[in-house]
Amino acid sequence: MSNNFSDKILEHYSDFSEKSILNRFIKHRTIVPLIKKRTNGEVFEVSEIGHSLENRILYLLKYGNGKTKILVWSQMHGDEPTATAAIFDIFNFLENSVFSAEQKLISEKCTVYFVPMLNPDGAEVFKRRNAADIDINRDALALQTPEGKSLMQFCKQIKPDFAFNLHDQEIYYSAGDTKYPAVLSFLAPAFDPQKTCNTSRENSMKLIAALNRMLQNYIPNRIGRYSDDYIPSAFGDAVQKCGTSTILIESGGFYNDTEKQFVRKMNVLSLLTAFKTIALNTFDDENINDYLSIPLNKKNKLFDVIIKNITLKFNDFTLTADIGIRQKMIVFDNLNSSKWLIEDIGDLKNFNAYTEIDANSQFISQKINIGSDATDILQILNFSS
Ligand SMILES: [Zn+2]
Repeated sequence: MSNNFSDKILEHYSDFSEKSILNRFIKHRTIVPLIKKRTNGEVFEVSEIGHSLENRILYLLKYGNGKTKILVWSQMHGDEPTATAAIFDIFNFLENSVFSAEQKLISEKCTVYFVPMLNPDGAEVFKRRNAADIDINRDALALQTPEGKSLMQFCKQIKPDFAFNLHDQEIYYSAGDTKYPAVLSFLAPAFDPQKTCNTSRENSMKLIAALNRMLQNYIPNRIGRYSDDYIPSAFGDAVQKCGTSTILIESGGFYNDTEKQFVRKMNVLSLLTAFKTIALNTFDDENINDYLSIPLNKKNKLFDVIIKNITLKFNDFTLTADIGIRQKMIVFDNLNSSKWLIEDIGDLKNFNAYTEIDANSQFISQKINIGSDATDILQILNFSS
């Protein structure tokens, strides 16, 4: 596919992006008005698939009347909101007259079911698990959480052809052995321990191959492939097993993008391109080897900051070392703050960072430890975040 469509999305993104969502801390009450205002509109059919443990409504928005059914859900982990924001951008896109040709194509060929924010109780306190501290994404078989049960029941009811399972991953994954962060990572989940490829799973792979090629134009070498180890209780694996071509998208990190607003835009680009590719059936021309050659994600190869070549004093010794620093989110009483913590000290030549500072053998006299606050050292080196 040419890049005309993706270029056009980016060109007009600021016209249709959802302006009431500007950071990662989206709550159920943030999205309810954005859903309610669509209740009597002509573009979406709004309904409910169930309620969370704390009785928040799990909304469903249906778009289009085509034969191919696509199910999209986001934020089954409460602190993974990037795709939820992207979904509300997409709702605006689907109502924006600039894109009437694409809307006609998608709505005639596909029916898209959106379940934004499957874990509103977790989102309320910015935590991964639901209110009972169960990981919904390990509840696909036991189905003890009302959130997971509602999703699986709905999935079995409509039997989607494609499903998009949307998450965030830590920003410290790199795209293979590169020094670059994995801005997005993709997975065509396995449905058995042997990781068998049937037509349905191959279609997941082919679609990802198409998305990867498109994305390389904008974020070259910054796409990763997630491990396909089979986890029977995970939703992606369980839905794939039902014969639905399932695609996991993990939102990672980008430079100077603490609130992940650039990564959100890349989600919009990916999902809309996926809808169009499905509507046109062009994923069928793709080769699964183009999926398999996407580099695997490498965990914990990145720091927020690496200070290179600092001189440390320990009793009578002087040592030269690098210091790896990461920013940790602290959520307390609905207030979000962050702390810079030292996570590694030593030879970090084989690691990379969003920001590297060369200390040029500058000497620091205070004692530092793993886990200690890095704010003072960063100040000494004139680092401003
Ligand atoms: Zn997740």
